[in-house]
Amino acid sequence: MLSPCLPPAMEPAELVWRDGVPESTRFGDVYFSRDNGLAETRYVFIGHNELPDRFRQVPETGHFVIAETGFGTGLNFLAAWAEWSKQRPAPDNAILHFVSVERFPLRRQDLEKALSYWPELQPQAAELIESYPPLIKGTHRLVLAGGRVRLTLYFGDILDAWKDLTFTADAWFLDGFAPSLNPGMWLDDAISLITGHSKPGTTLATFTAVGRVRRSLADAGFEIAKVPGFGRKREMLAGVYASGKVSGQPQRAGIVAIIGAGIAGTLLARNLADRGTRVLLLDQAPHAGSAASGNPQGALYVKLGVEYNTQTELAATALSFSQRFYRPWQNQFWHPTGLLQLATDDQEASRQQRFCDRNDYPEELLESVDATRASELAGIPVNTGGLWFPGSGWLEPAQACQQLAEHPMIETRFGYQVASLLPCNNQWCIRSHSGEDCRADAVIIAGGHDSAALVPVADELRLKSIRGQITELPESDFNLPEAVICGTKYLNPVHGGSAVTGATFDLKDNTPHPTLAGHQENLEELQRTLPSVSKGGLPDPDQLKGRVAFRCTTHDYLPVAGIMLDTEGNHLEDLYLLTGLGSKGLVWAPLLAEYLGDVISGQPHCLPMPLKKRLETRRLYRN
Ligand code: SAM
Repeated sequence: MLSPCLPPAMEPAELVWRDGVPESTRFGDVYFSRDNGLAETRYVFIGHNELPDRFRQVPETGHFVIAETGFGTGLNFLAAWAEWSKQRPAPDNAILHFVSVERFPLRRQDLEKALSYWPELQPQAAELIESYPPLIKGTHRLVLAGGRVRLTLYFGDILDAWKDLTFTADAWFLDGFAPSLNPGMWLDDAISLITGHSKPGTTLATFTAVGRVRRSLADAGFEIAKVPGFGRKREMLAGVYASGKVSGQPQRAGIVAIIGAGIAGTLLARNLADRGTRVLLLDQAPHAGSAASGNPQGALYVKLGVEYNTQTELAATALSFSQRFYRPWQNQFWHPTGLLQLATDDQEASRQQRFCDRNDYPEELLESVDATRASELAGIPVNTGGLWFPGSGWLEPAQACQQLAEHPMIETRFGYQVASLLPCNNQWCIRSHSGEDCRADAVIIAGGHDSAALVPVADELRLKSIRGQITELPESDFNLPEAVICGTKYLNPVHGGSAVTGATFDLKDNTPHPTLAGHQENLEELQRTLPSVSKGGLPDPDQLKGRVAFRCTTHDYLPVAGIMLDTEGNHLEDLYLLTGLGSKGLVWAPLLAEYLGDVISGQPHCLPMPLKKRLETRRLYRN
């Protein structure tokens, strides 16, 4: 018997085996055991949406969007992906977007078992299983097949999904259990929301031919036909919205300029370039990753709130996305050693207790550990327990920026200090201090704490700069951990003979170079929270190396990602802001780059409405 669980955990579906065939018992139905599920999927959903032909007609850098009710095992998704790969083999840049909703998701191990039933889908299935998100409520974006297939998987109810997600479907797979078993999925409300995500020429197919569903779809504007069903099923429905014939959607962006080659700017540049967009990446420094993203080590860390509200959901989604995102760069600039968030004092211990009492996170994302287990995981003795994030770790941010910026579609211009940004003939003109000019169809300002000065609005934006000083600890003088340890500050594992600790959080200090006081603060904090780190006395701060960077944050400490608005709330056409990532840029940037990549290229958004609202630029104005 399944018991209701605390947020953000989802109630999983139960997988059972009957006569050697995987089935879910959730609705007393058998959804995997259709005699030949794959043949049925191909007949009903792929065939009756005419996907092979329509896939071939998608423009070269365009995209095609399939939306589905009920993800289940992902069989329909995998079959559509296999068909896409057949019709649009790599290195084609067109993208298949698949948007699906699941209220009772399968656990990863059950998904793996169920999908082993279709050996011909194994290449796609293996990649899906590898990227399958933890079962937490919300929207998960999976970037697959090198970005040529993007899955937006909403864990929740379809009514919420269709209200909160932003996309326009080319084809609908109306799957789900028979209307008699699961009427909630076929409510008129759900069907009318579907039309809001359709356009002339959007097609649909569904295995059911129930009269009520047919009438609802027809009332909503679909031209519906009853056609022969699969196998022993007599009939099914196929339809087209507001008659028309469209195959996929064209790419919108022309040349996109990004100002700022830190982690946010380089990730967005890479994201757009991978989608086939030409990018001009500008920075005043001589190379990428030279300011706030220039530290030799940075932790993949975000502190999750006690309440699972939109802010926490945003942070948890970003954390899980970033852990998946960096995987291809493992042991290049990404080191997934795990991360321990220590309960460094009574107040933090009580916060963590409340956090654990009120939330039920899957262990693949985080688990609570006592001091003994924490010491084993950290590889050095620690005095308290904490939260263990097995999929986190640390990055070499400067390396990451430099590698991400290397792409044939990215043109970099370093030493380009932007003096003005002005609209000119439906483009933006970007003038440098030395009088150079360049033009772009869209501009993203990702200039960290310099961003406010670059935005062409008269009002002051609520962005502030925070000085952070790190200290490098030589391995000869310290016992360094095997995993990242975060308390009030963080300590990384050793890399190249030393480990980075820090950083200070100085709101009123503008000193651009490391100071003795900064090193002293970092060492004292380390001594207080992790006394076992010191091999004897602490070294003279005079002898230590370090670095200072200025991080940009907002008044509410949430990042900003979206189209720039003026004080009246009007869009500044094709001008976007991506900044305010504070000291958590390594976690925020992959998801926010994916989101802005979606927005700029007119593709389905990876974030639901309530989360997008938290990121809007309008909140930067005081009134
Ligand atoms: N398309 C799936 C596949 O390819 O394996 C099969 C889908 S199965 C027939 C229907 C799915 O819809 C089940 O996984 C079920 O948990 C899900 N579901 C049922 N009611 C739902 C609702 N109200 N919102 C979201 N998902 C729902």
